[in-house]
Amino acid sequence: MEFIIRSKALYTTWVYYKPDRLLFDVGEGISAALGNKIYSIEKIFISHSHVDHIAGLWGFINTRNNAMGSREKGLTIYYPKGSKNIEEYLNFIQRMNKYLRFKLEFITVEHGDIIPLKNNRYLKIFKTRHTPGEKSVGFQILENRKRLKSEYQNLSGNEIKELISKMGKENILEKYTKKLVTISGDSLPVSPDIIEDSDILVHECTFIREKDRKLRNHTSLDEIKKLLTQIKPKKVILYHISSRYTRLIKKTKEELSSEFKDIEFHIVHPEEISII
Ligand SMILES: [Zn+2]
Ligand SMILES: [Zn+2]
Repeated sequence: MEFIIRSKALYTTWVYYKPDRLLFDVGEGISAALGNKIYSIEKIFISHSHVDHIAGLWGFINTRNNAMGSREKGLTIYYPKGSKNIEEYLNFIQRMNKYLRFKLEFITVEHGDIIPLKNNRYLKIFKTRHTPGEKSVGFQILENRKRLKSEYQNLSGNEIKELISKMGKENILEKYTKKLVTISGDSLPVSPDIIEDSDILVHECTFIREKDRKLRNHTSLDEIKKLLTQIKPKKVILYHISSRYTRLIKKTKEELSSEFKDIEFHIVHPEEISII
């Protein structure tokens, strides 16, 4: 299990990424759904100020402060720089919780910012296109790795051992960066340049039927399909689906799987918690 996701456009959205115990957005219902897992979360990343993405934060902080669980771990909340609504909300939460038993920090982020994680991983912020005048960002988790330099990649195990004893391990390896996960937040399609080489793409797809979209604030399924002709993630998770499509989820997933055979698809059902 890598993800626990609850997402219903307009109502609530949160994405829990288990390998790094990160939370992306914090819509309502989060604390009750995650239960004790909320104590393991030390970083929350907020994509933008819309209520369906932040309404659960007050409850999250309050539960973490009062329920039985580890209180040593601090909590840092990252949110888009210049987002006045989020700032007001964070100030309100702080006023309502005067006696916090853990360290609570707020940090603003903008396009290009890098936040170190554990285990050679880091998170990169990219800007997204959502509502005019509203600061919005997406997130990417990357990992610094090492591999054999290309000139040694065809050698046998014994030859490599010999080379290591002759040259030292560090001299036959090169560093590279692996994109693990890209998460769109609410947005029009994220640029293929950003997603490229990402193993997992978690992208919003509010509109399964293009004709239902009145404003250009959210992504449609046709746009996702176009994107997937340009980039090839191993796994695609579509979320932030409008609840009007409850009956189309299964069929849409089947159609996508037969159209893009190399990709594993998941569509987050608007009425369910998805464990992926
Ligand atoms: Zn939303
Ligand atoms: Zn939004």
